[in-house]
Amino acid sequence: MSDRKVRVRFAPSPTGPLHIGGVKTALYSYLFAKKHNGDFILRIEDTDQTRLVEGAEEYINKSLSWCGLEPDESPAKGGPHEPYKQSERNKTGRYKVFADQLIASGHAYYAFDTSEELEAMRERLKAEGGDSYQYDSKSRMSMKNSLTLDEAEVNQKIEAGDNYVIRIKMPIDEMINFTDMVRGDISVNSSTLDDKVLMKSDGMPTYHLANVADDHDMEISHVIRGEEWLPSAPMHVMLYKYLGWEDTKPQFAHIPLILKPSGQGKLSKRDGDKLGFSVFPMEWKDPESGNISTGYKEDGYLPSAFLNMLAMLGWNSGTEQEIFSLDELIETFSFDKVQKGGAKYDPEKAVWFNQEHIKNLGDNALATLLSEQFPDLGVETGTLMMICKMMKERVKFVPEIYTKGKYFFENPQEFDEKNRRKKWKEATPEHIEALVNKYYDLDEFVPDILQNLFEEYCESHEVGFGALMAPLRLAITGQGGGPPIFDIMSIIGKENSIARMRFAIEKFSKEESA
Ligand code: GLU
Repeated sequence: MSDRKVRVRFAPSPTGPLHIGGVKTALYSYLFAKKHNGDFILRIEDTDQTRLVEGAEEYINKSLSWCGLEPDESPAKGGPHEPYKQSERNKTGRYKVFADQLIASGHAYYAFDTSEELEAMRERLKAEGGDSYQYDSKSRMSMKNSLTLDEAEVNQKIEAGDNYVIRIKMPIDEMINFTDMVRGDISVNSSTLDDKVLMKSDGMPTYHLANVADDHDMEISHVIRGEEWLPSAPMHVMLYKYLGWEDTKPQFAHIPLILKPSGQGKLSKRDGDKLGFSVFPMEWKDPESGNISTGYKEDGYLPSAFLNMLAMLGWNSGTEQEIFSLDELIETFSFDKVQKGGAKYDPEKAVWFNQEHIKNLGDNALATLLSEQFPDLGVETGTLMMICKMMKERVKFVPEIYTKGKYFFENPQEFDEKNRRKKWKEATPEHIEALVNKYYDLDEFVPDILQNLFEEYCESHEVGFGALMAPLRLAITGQGGGPPIFDIMSIIGKENSIARMRFAIEKFSKEESA
């Protein structure tokens, strides 16, 4: 790598909620920047004012923040290249300067065609049976632009306030070559490309001009973005050339898209509702319809698991390792292990990543997360940490520590009926009562002692451990499975344990005789 400072930008358009594909682009950009001690920059590309969606920019900020992908420079944070929002940058007149420069050097031109005229051109080209219907080096000479009109007419139109756009003038039959960090060497013949609009009639630049101008002005060293932008890259390469910026042109990396689980096509924003999993990092309420789409945050994913899952959708470390923390990803990530083809989203694998990350999370961190979600659990942090330690192997999502382990916090409200029928025998009340009496006298209500007494009792009364453990567990937890029962009893304490055992004797005996 050259000694140029690595500066990577994530440049979303606030046209709706950020999709997980967008988060993946942000992640790869972040990983690459951090790996090379570089900067990660957030730039908001809002030049298409007709597509702006209320709340989308805030959503981008919040989502990156939840994931822990904090930009070094952004609209909110500021930085040496302010402003970081293109609509604001446009006010400085900077894009217009570049458009004018391109016109002056003969690499761009004014075009006055109305939408009807553009439509007529497409119809005509279709009727002629050609294979492209675009505004390009072949068709432009039959259109209304500064290449075909004389200068006086052009000036008069501009002065009269006629609508016009500025288009790039693509050269004829020139090879455009560049290297993509994922796809290798790419060559495209300029004649296949259209004369893209650079400045729109509303005075706003298009994505193409603004993107290149800003990447130059913000000293971006690497452009990392979704594969869908690959067709635009050759045209951007031409803009760098025509604006005299070839020496500082960024390197490109076009990363693979996330595909539907079937592998049939790109995972779209609408797929979440259809396929039953979230496609957004956080919950999103559509400002127009009021519809709510679920997000990974609210689904109970840890940000570290979410990022790990996204990282692996198109990249691998080249080893068997699949579980990575964000720091490990930074250390291991590189573009030579990024695949070219799309990566199938696997909903089950996503859950697996979360499970694994929960297992790896410290009891303290897990307890903090749990108490954030359930502030009224009413147990001390130390106890909560013990509960988390016991439960973390058994849950897929953090809230399940509470929902599956409710018995840690309250007396069971429901008892597994099937289990009761199978395991609660006629002699059970007598045995449980005997255990109550033994446990009642204990000063130290700790797992080892509870277990020893239990085993002693079973042996002396010739009762199988399992045969008595199951109804004991049912009395304490209402369930048929879970962490070691004596650990649970020790956590809930003597008073609660005995009360539950007595309650079960009473409840089940009554039901038996009813
Ligand atoms: N604004 C573009 C988008 O929405 C950015 C593409 C790029 O990174 O160049 O995806």
